[in-house]
Amino acid sequence: MNVLADKGYHSGRELKACEELGVTTFISQKESSSIKKNPAFAMQSFMYDEKHDTYTCPAREAMHTNGRWYNKKLKNSRQSYLVKHYKTKACEGCKLRAQCTTNKLGRLIERTEYQQYVDRNNNRV
Ligand code: SF4
Repeated sequence: MNVLADKGYHSGRELKACEELGVTTFISQKESSSIKKNPAFAMQSFMYDEKHDTYTCPAREAMHTNGRWYNKKLKNSRQSYLVKHYKTKACEGCKLRAQCTTNKLGRLIERTEYQQYVDRNNNRV
């Protein structure tokens, strides 16, 4: 079954459930405030490499994970989900840093346990 749905009312958890039930979703991506503010440094500008489990940032630096999953709570909910963190030491001397992050420790990318389902949905739209 193919499902076309309005954006903004779905979650990665639901996209995973649909896929496991054989439901193919076509739901537009939510536009985050970071995309509108600074698209070149929004999450979508960080390319994921599934084979090496790394991201490549806009400065073409590889961002690595320590492999650990961290529990993250949903706002105003008892539900939580798992995320992995990706970082690079290259942030320290990066010329693009002021545009990329205000975090003293450098840019942090979080990848949720549902990201592959979100990506497959987004690629279909
Ligand atoms: S601040 Fe870090 S993550 Fe951002 S572009 Fe520079 S090296 Fe890449």
